[in-house]
Amino acid sequence: MSNPAELHPVPSGFAGPGTISRAGYERDYARSVQDPDAFWGEAARRLQWDRAPTRVRNVSFDPADFRIRWFEDGELNASVNCLDRHLAARGDKTALIWEADDPATAPLEVSYRELHARVCRLANALRNLGVGKGDRVTIYLPMIVEAAVAMLACARIGAVHCVVFGGFSPNSIADRVADCGSRLIITADEGLRGGKTVPLKANVDAALKLPGTNTVETVLVVRHTRGAVDMQMPRDRWYDAVVDSQPDTCEPERMNAEDPLFILYTSGSTGKPKGVLHTTGGYLLYASYTHEAVFDLRDDDVYWCTADVGWVTGHSYIVYGPLANGATSLVFEGVPNYPSVSRFWEVIDRHRVSIFYTAPTAIRALMREGEAPVKKTSRASLRLLGSVGEPINPEAWRWYADVVGDGRCPIVDTWWQTETGGILISPLPGAIDTKPGSATRPFFGVQPALVDANGTILEGATEGNLVITDSWPGQMRSVYGDHQRFIDTYFKAYPGMYFTGDGCRRDEDGYYWITGRVDDVINVSGHRIGTAELESALVLHPKVAEAAVVGFPHDIKGQGIYAYVTLKAGEDYSEDLRKELVRHVRSEIGPTASPDHIQWAPGLPKTRSGKIMRRILRKIAENAPDQLGDTSTLADPSVVDALVKDRFIPG
Ligand code: ATP
Ligand code: MG
Repeated sequence: MSNPAELHPVPSGFAGPGTISRAGYERDYARSVQDPDAFWGEAARRLQWDRAPTRVRNVSFDPADFRIRWFEDGELNASVNCLDRHLAARGDKTALIWEADDPATAPLEVSYRELHARVCRLANALRNLGVGKGDRVTIYLPMIVEAAVAMLACARIGAVHCVVFGGFSPNSIADRVADCGSRLIITADEGLRGGKTVPLKANVDAALKLPGTNTVETVLVVRHTRGAVDMQMPRDRWYDAVVDSQPDTCEPERMNAEDPLFILYTSGSTGKPKGVLHTTGGYLLYASYTHEAVFDLRDDDVYWCTADVGWVTGHSYIVYGPLANGATSLVFEGVPNYPSVSRFWEVIDRHRVSIFYTAPTAIRALMREGEAPVKKTSRASLRLLGSVGEPINPEAWRWYADVVGDGRCPIVDTWWQTETGGILISPLPGAIDTKPGSATRPFFGVQPALVDANGTILEGATEGNLVITDSWPGQMRSVYGDHQRFIDTYFKAYPGMYFTGDGCRRDEDGYYWITGRVDDVINVSGHRIGTAELESALVLHPKVAEAAVVGFPHDIKGQGIYAYVTLKAGEDYSEDLRKELVRHVRSEIGPTASPDHIQWAPGLPKTRSGKIMRRILRKIAENAPDQLGDTSTLADPSVVDALVKDRFIPG
């Protein structure tokens, strides 16, 4: 499965003049952990400060004396760093390319100069509406240019944005609005995804009827589809009516490095989403540095991250990182399978995308459709591929490399979290040979460690709970409104360390392999087996498209293995295939890993960002379908009903 000999060297000819080499990585990594003050103090010069910081870090992970502060006497504005400072040298460079849901709609190219003007106009309008430093603004928009404009306009005036994914329901909007106490919501009449309209404004109307949302004074509505909406005066205002007449310059608010930049709720894979708070200086520095180094960014790159701005990936790697670096970033309104499953590859050809960053869930879904929809496109512009969100199965990795990348493009498998602000473990593409399924090595300044259940640090090639032993600038600073929950969630399990919640293996080469959530690890007769490994073994079978594995209580073994399996398009479900898959997993991993039950799954429960929600599958496997927990972030609840109906019932 993960053949230890399978090392993919950096392709010859990949490196450009600015590419970080192997020796450069080793040297700077060593320096970054030996003298973090010097390393990050120097790195901070990549930003434009109104007042340069004299102090670099002030950190203690000790719950009794807890603090995480970076560049604490520095002052800057994030929107100035993403816009104003590029105007002189690259004002006419394209900052954002917008590709609409419908390929027949003309794409839009917005230069840095134009984006600056748009941000300033909205920032002025927000100020006129009484929004100021520290106020919270909820952004509930489709993937249109205004989403980035809204985030940066908030940053310009020091308001704290809270982006809520445009696919969320009125309940989810209301929960988040109530939690952060927003004064204003920016939304659109409707969104468009896969040819279907999404009633955004109507969802906001419904949300604002729910309890706890009466802090909202104003709703700004972008005219996007021009579908009919119900405007309630004076609360609701058309965006263009309020914004278009504003001056196109706007005095930025001077922000302390530790002033909040945004609140963002986690995906909800493991429970109720947490309101993650990020601050200005450290976050922006970390997003921009990782974006440049991990994607080996060059001036003429066209960079495309397919995430939604409603997730942290969209924050750090569609908006803040790329724009702080003066890059060209593509914003895609649509979905991978509309109007056809070639859409991603067609967009790459249309805009000559050179760096492409997507999620394993999308790769697996497209892999299911075979090579033909990929191979009919050119993709000659691509030079680097990225993956984020879940462990990528080696099978999907190879397909991504060989079929999408034509064997020419390195893959950066980037491990990180909403909480970490930016990528913590990933290859640097010119420096680190890759292995399918491994996120490889830590980024500068990041000190991962594996601990056992007692918090003892394990050395060498081993497996354990992934912790980070020291701070990095992009680290979250608090759970909004509940600082104690922040400390309790992340710093209590293993005192003095940040606990990620993920399990991980480290191999002989010091490479890290995420094995899945710690809560998902299955213990079969004393053998600990990660879900990622089992799922990757199943996906390796030529008929399997996707798999999710959970443990369930077992009288003899302690825990048994329950696998949910989705087959590739056109394959038939049969008892023989079920037996074949059990044999297949035994031969790939070993007899302890034999699944006890395989349930055919026409679909798997996923978060809106496409992550498999194993906690729900665990409840189904435990035959406790009445205890599914928080399902508000589920993409398609009907999937769960079908699985509950077909579940294996003991006895
Ligand atoms: P919640 O915290 O609400 O349960 P979540 O953990 O899914 O939701 P995110 O912050 O979006 O919310 O996801 C971070 C998690 O995603 C990581 O902890 C890890 O489990 C998984 N992940 C992200 N990237 C990778 C990757 N490259 N390889 C393996 N796992 C990854
Ligand atoms: Mg999480």
